[in-house]
Amino acid sequence: MSVTAQELETLSIKAIDAKATAYCPYSKFRVGACILTKSGEFITGANVENASYPVGTCAERVAFGTAVVAGHKEFKALAVATDISPPASPCGMCRQFIREFTSLDFPVYMYDGEGKHKVMTMNELLPESFGPGQLK
Ligand SMILES: [Zn+2]
Repeated sequence: MSVTAQELETLSIKAIDAKATAYCPYSKFRVGACILTKSGEFITGANVENASYPVGTCAERVAFGTAVVAGHKEFKALAVATDISPPASPCGMCRQFIREFTSLDFPVYMYDGEGKHKVMTMNELLPESFGPGQLK
C-alpha cells in the first residue's frame, strides 16, 4: 500500500491547510493532520484545546477518530503539519492511538512551517509497540 506522488501532494496540502482549523487559543501551537484511507479518502483533523488543559485533543486523534466513526479502519498514510522547524512528531499518546489502526510500516509524514517534511514509519516512532495483535 504505497502512497503515490499525487496522493502525497494532496495529503500534505490538506494537512497544512488543516492547521487553519485548529482551536488553540492557549498554546497558539497549530497542528493539522490528514489521513489517507485505503479507499482513497482524505480525512483531516486539527488540535482542539480546552480551558482545562489536559482535556484538549491532538490533531492526529481528531483525524483518526473522525475517520473511524465514518467507517474507515484501514489507512495508507498520515501527514501532520505544524508551524515549527524541524517538524514536530506525534506525541506519545497519539503514537499509541495511531498504532491501533496501522501496520508497523505505516508512514507518518511530518511537515514543518515551510512545507518541508520528514517521514518515519510507525515502528520507528513507536518501537516494540503494544498493538491489537497482542490481544488476539
Ligand atoms: Zn498527540
